[in-house]
Amino acid sequence: MKPAKPTASLPPTLPELSLPELEALMAELGQPRFRARQVNDWRNKGVCDPDRMRNLPAALRRALAERLVCEPLTLARRQVSRDGTRKYLFRLARGGMVESVLIPEASRATVCVSSQVGCVLDCPFCHTGTQNFETNLTAGEILAQVLAVKRDMAAEPLPTGMHGQLTHVVYMGMGEPLANERAVHASLERLLDANGLNISRRRITVSTSGLVPQIARLGARFPVNLAISLHAATDALRDRLVPVNRTWPLARLRQCLDDWPLGPQRHVTLEYVMLAGVNDREEDVAALARFVRPDRERVNLIQFNPWPGAPWRGSPREHMNAFAQALIDKGIRATVRRSRGDDIMAACGQLKAGASANAGEPATAEEEHRAHA
Ligand code: SF4
Repeated sequence: MKPAKPTASLPPTLPELSLPELEALMAELGQPRFRARQVNDWRNKGVCDPDRMRNLPAALRRALAERLVCEPLTLARRQVSRDGTRKYLFRLARGGMVESVLIPEASRATVCVSSQVGCVLDCPFCHTGTQNFETNLTAGEILAQVLAVKRDMAAEPLPTGMHGQLTHVVYMGMGEPLANERAVHASLERLLDANGLNISRRRITVSTSGLVPQIARLGARFPVNLAISLHAATDALRDRLVPVNRTWPLARLRQCLDDWPLGPQRHVTLEYVMLAGVNDREEDVAALARFVRPDRERVNLIQFNPWPGAPWRGSPREHMNAFAQALIDKGIRATVRRSRGDDIMAACGQLKAGASANAGEPATAEEEHRAHA
């Protein structure tokens, strides 16, 4: 695991403050308490620029801008796929770039957020893993992605037939969320807070490569949906594809998943990127059948999105379907994830990498995105 740099000394951001913290700030600034509710309402709608908070006095707008980092990130590039998927590249106010994706569907709209710039882990098939790890995001920077996407949805509504409100949040962008546990927990608090974004825990998913102690702590504190980047069901292969398996092998992961607090009608998702000739063989079906608990878990087969220089090939679609059927025949719920945003390189770290390669080119709305495979 690459070392993480501390982020403790960063100034507070508007997106991360709770209503009581906003009330305390108003008291410090000599403002009446109701101003906190007004700021909170704007912020929850995605408006973080005090100058756009029209019902606030000018002096308070100035004071907010002085006391807080109101907008911890700004949009650097936005691309829209033919299927409506929107991919965003954000520049952090303190330097560094992160990506987020909006995945619109008829019944829901999901934002996929990043938790680190780069990733502390080194999964060799993952484009983010091949990039340098730069920093952990703060809670405010994670939440700011959600708010920026809400703002974008308000400015440019999704096409007719697609859900108009942001409904789901998934931590599947750049980075290993549970290697940035403190900030991710703090961001979950704000997402779940009835005075914050008020998103049900059933609509939030945290995806991890399998950091066992952190999974246990997440389940104890925030029993949201859990997704595991499994990608292999034997230690020999998973040691190669998901190196954190060398620290937390499958037996430890198995125990941890058995202890995960599943609600009724819920399941843990086991993500499985299909690599031709590597983890898509008959013996891999057999290994999955030994590992998976069909009453608690579902396997989600994901098409590998190749990136420049990748030494891997994705399994052909027909083979993925046959692999899914072989799992179903063994009593395992298996789905092949519908690929979104293919035309805009919608996979882990690809937007950021593309932007670096094209540094200086103007962004266009019709260019290009998604992440944590
Ligand atoms: S798959 Fe996830 S944990 Fe592994 S390197 Fe990529 S972003 Fe990090």
